[in-house]
Amino acid sequence: MNILVINCGSSSLKYQLLDTETKQPSAKGLVERIGMPGSVLTHRKAGGEKEIITAEITNHTIAIKLVLDALVNPEYGVVKDLKEIEAVGHRVVHGGEKFAQSVLIDDEVIKAIEECVELAPLHNPPNIAGIEACKDLMPGVPQVAVFDTAFHQTMPPEAFIYGLPYELYEQYKIRKYGFHGTSHKYVSQRAAALLGRPLEDLKLISCHLGNGSSITAIDGGKSVETSMGFTPLEGLMMGTRSGDLDPAIVSYIMQKEDLTSKRVNDFLNKKCGVLGVSGVSSDFRDIEGAAEEGNYRAQLALNVFAHDVKKYIGSYAAVLNGADAIIFTAGLGENSATMRESIAGNLSYLGVEIDPEKNKIRGQEIDISTEDARCRVLVIPTNEELMIAMDTYEVVKG
Ligand code: ADP
Repeated sequence: MNILVINCGSSSLKYQLLDTETKQPSAKGLVERIGMPGSVLTHRKAGGEKEIITAEITNHTIAIKLVLDALVNPEYGVVKDLKEIEAVGHRVVHGGEKFAQSVLIDDEVIKAIEECVELAPLHNPPNIAGIEACKDLMPGVPQVAVFDTAFHQTMPPEAFIYGLPYELYEQYKIRKYGFHGTSHKYVSQRAAALLGRPLEDLKLISCHLGNGSSITAIDGGKSVETSMGFTPLEGLMMGTRSGDLDPAIVSYIMQKEDLTSKRVNDFLNKKCGVLGVSGVSSDFRDIEGAAEEGNYRAQLALNVFAHDVKKYIGSYAAVLNGADAIIFTAGLGENSATMRESIAGNLSYLGVEIDPEKNKIRGQEIDISTEDARCRVLVIPTNEELMIAMDTYEVVKG
């Protein structure tokens, strides 16, 4: 089945047209600067050249119209007719407690996604704009919502309730939701395939380490604990996000720096993390480069990050009562042998032992453990688009 996967941000839109049989994209691309001067669509047919299409793209409907035009373009398109696109899968960031799995979109679902806007004010509105645009431009084509939060809805209350009055959970829905669910779900399924064991029998710790990072404890294919929380700010220190802090620090910074709640929220999301600690960059490649040249703060940022990851792996091993495998995925997890080594180097108590030669490999699905390591360490490139397409397929097939 040909499925169009759409990931709408406030000013950008990523897409892939995927065939669920070959599991490969026939085309993919990105619209940038929606609603701004200089908007552009970059489209690439599999095996083809990059096409750069500039146009005035004032909203998401125009963006999607351009994408559909590119997909049927006689020169660089990949389908003859839009009828060949059988379904659309939309990434939706926040499904609150309403959605524990992907769903076929109807008016009621759109209303429920709208009700979650309060929980994800930056993300859900563009996701809804993308859904509305596809509804207009592709009437009758089934649309499916795939939520970042859905995979974590299996967490038990002891994992998702904060130490706040219970009324705040009831009134304002303040609880841990968790994010990156599509990625954690995908890599856990691939881990079972790679290990040749049923997912139902496995205790996995999945480390999605990218610009945004989160770790999830997965028991028998179900998320039982995850490091991101009410928002994606909680958990590990990230590219620009602080991660876990003593909550008293927030009001202290507000007083000292005379910041409003909005500005302190921006500060914690955009100016902290490895960027803030290193003072070099939010990009781990730059930080690893600076650390190699002897930059103390860059090395410190890497050490704090590795320490954070180890701490979470240890606590999730406790939650799971052991682990069969630890998975590394996303930009840093897939590519940085030094980061994997510095995290895994200290987990021998779990039965982790990585083979330095195998660890040199990057961006490939591989078990990097020594032969008799009790707890396996897997590198699995994530593929959220494919997971969205497969979920969409399952929902549409019903
Ligand atoms: P996101 O999807 O959260 O934006 P990615 O999963 O693409 O992020 O990961 C981006 C991060 O991965 C960046 O910090 C980048 O530096 C890091 N990264 C990518 N390739 C490498 C590499 N070869 N070595 C170290 N870090 C890398």
